Amino acid sequence: MMDHLANTEINSQRIAAVENCFGASGQPLALPGRVLLGEGILTKECRKKPKPRIFFLFNDILVYGSIVINKRKYNSQHIIPLEDVTLETLPDTLQMKNRWMIKTSKKSFVVSAASLTERKEWISHLEECIKHLLTKTGRQPCTEHAAPWIPDKATDICMRCTQTKFSTLTRRHHCRKCGFVVCADCSRQRFLMPRLSPKPLRVCNLCYRQLLHSEILTAMCQPEGIGSSLHSKASSSFLGQEEEGEGKGTADITLSSEIQRERYCSSLS
Ligand SMILES: [Zn+2]
Ligand SMILES: [Zn+2]
Repeated sequence: MMDHLANTEINSQRIAAVENCFGASGQPLALPGRVLLGEGILTKECRKKPKPRIFFLFNDILVYGSIVINKRKYNSQHIIPLEDVTLETLPDTLQMKNRWMIKTSKKSFVVSAASLTERKEWISHLEECIKHLLTKTGRQPCTEHAAPWIPDKATDICMRCTQTKFSTLTRRHHCRKCGFVVCADCSRQRFLMPRLSPKPLRVCNLCYRQLLHSEILTAMCQPEGIGSSLHSKASSSFLGQEEEGEGKGTADITLSSEIQRERYCSSLS
C-alpha cells in the first residue's frame, strides 16, 4: 500500500514540510520506507474541552499536534506507533458527532471528524495501515489499552465517593487506571504501571485496591520466592505515595497462609 511512494522525492518533500511546520518543537520524521499518506484536522476531546488538532497519517505512525497557524506552524507534537493502535467507533453525543476512539497502551483519546465520510476515510486508512504493519511484523493486535480520561466537564462531583463537589478550590483529578474524575481524597494512592509510565501514577482508591490485589495474586501464584518478589514489587509501587493510606486497600488482604494462596491460585485458573 502506497509503498511505491517510499523514497520518492515528492514523499520526502511532503515529510520535510511537516517537519518544518513543527520546527524545533518536533522530532525528525523522515525514515527510509516511511510514507506520508494523509493529513487533516480532527477535533480531539481534551480534558477541559474539545480542541482542533492537526493529524498526519504515515504508514507506520500517527502524528498530531496543536495548530498555531494552519499549514504553517504546529507544536505539541505527539507520535503514536500504529502497531500499538486499535480503534473503536463511538456514538454521537449532543456536542460531538462522527467520533471514534484511538486506543493505545499508553494513552487513549476520542476524536471526531467533520463528516461521516471523513470519519470513514480516516478509519479505513488507519485500519489498513495497522493491518499491514501487523502482517509485516507478525505481531498480534494490541489488546490492553489505557483508559481514556473522562473530560472534566462531564461531572461536578467525584465519580468515586459521589460526595465531593468540585469547585475552583476543590480540584478535579484523574485516575490513570480507569480515567474517572475523582477528588483528592479518593485518589491519594500512587501505583507503578510500567506500561504507562516509569513513575508511580495517581490512581483512585478502587483501582488501587484492584491493582494491589492482582499484584498480590500474581506474586502469590509464583512458585518460588513468594515473599521476596511480592516485597520488591510492592515497595517499588508505592514510591510516590503522598500519604500513609491508613491501611486502606491492604486491610482486606492477608498474605499469610499457604492454603489461602492455593485457593487464590486455583480460583484464577
Ligand atoms: Zn471522592
Ligand atoms: Zn480508577
